[in-house]
Amino acid sequence: EQAEWKSLKDAKTVSADGKHFDIAANVGTPDDLDGVLDNGGEAIGLFRSEFLYMNSSELPTEDEQFEAYKKVAEGMNGKQVVVRTMDIGGDKHLPYLPLPEEMNPFLGYRAIRISLSQQDIFRTQLRALLRASNYGKIAIMFPMIATVNEFKQARAIYDEERQKMIDAGQPVADNIEVGMMMEIPAAVIIADKLAKYADFFSIGTNDLIQYTFAADRGNEHVSYLYQPYNPSLLRLIKQVIDTAHAEGKWAGMCGEMAGDQIAVPILMGLGLDEFSMSATSMLQTRSLMKRLNTADVKTLADKALELETNEEVQKLVEDSCK
Ligand code: PEP
Ligand code: MG
Repeated sequence: EQAEWKSLKDAKTVSADGKHFDIAANVGTPDDLDGVLDNGGEAIGLFRSEFLYMNSSELPTEDEQFEAYKKVAEGMNGKQVVVRTMDIGGDKHLPYLPLPEEMNPFLGYRAIRISLSQQDIFRTQLRALLRASNYGKIAIMFPMIATVNEFKQARAIYDEERQKMIDAGQPVADNIEVGMMMEIPAAVIIADKLAKYADFFSIGTNDLIQYTFAADRGNEHVSYLYQPYNPSLLRLIKQVIDTAHAEGKWAGMCGEMAGDQIAVPILMGLGLDEFSMSATSMLQTRSLMKRLNTADVKTLADKALELETNEEVQKLVEDSCK
């Protein structure tokens, strides 16, 4: 099995009938790059920029960030690198950035909410990304978008920084995609509107499951509510994919679920374009996809959407994809 996976390192990701999907990697530091290339990653679907802020005793400067993004962009040799802007808050704190004491940090001041209110931090990060865009294929993704206005505001700030650089004669790539994480149910519900403004969606199932089932992702007392196959969640995922496609945009997934071998056949059937996962799951997933037909997984997904429980869906997949 391991040998078969290794043989797929330089292969394209295709289903048995030849439909292409992208298998991308989630990475946390520039050092993870080797693992992505060794395991045949077609892109980086989620570059968590938090490490820059966490491994530092003060806010990382524009130059420090630029060097890190440039290294990853160059290292990927023209393959896309989706960099997520700062997702601090929730359970991630910075000693040098005072955040309010909160009753419910996961429902509090985090990610894009901080970026939009402390714009100097956000603008510094965007400028570093714009500069790095000259060294590879950078895309930018905003975390924890809940409303159309948040996305429009974030995008407007990005457009402003970009224009300032152009006016100053600094080079920037002209094909930078600007998209968003889909990890809050309100955003999924209004995804048809968001799809007019965002260049792509990437579904963050770790948070989307937490917020959909109202169950803290780190609380063992409610861990039974972590239900990635529950038809309620599958219907949200379908809506994200369908609304993206209706506007000619692509939809990916960068939560743990994207590399889950039970979920993958259903996600293929729902038409997910990009699967972003830890580097160590990529070849196994490419191998699984190669054995599946798109017509079969479409039927499977249609059936799953009409079941009632997480367990029923799991059993359906186990019985049909043996
Ligand atoms: C997610 O929420 O699924 C996600 C990819 O982001 P994080 O796990 O970093 O919150
Ligand atoms: Mg998240």
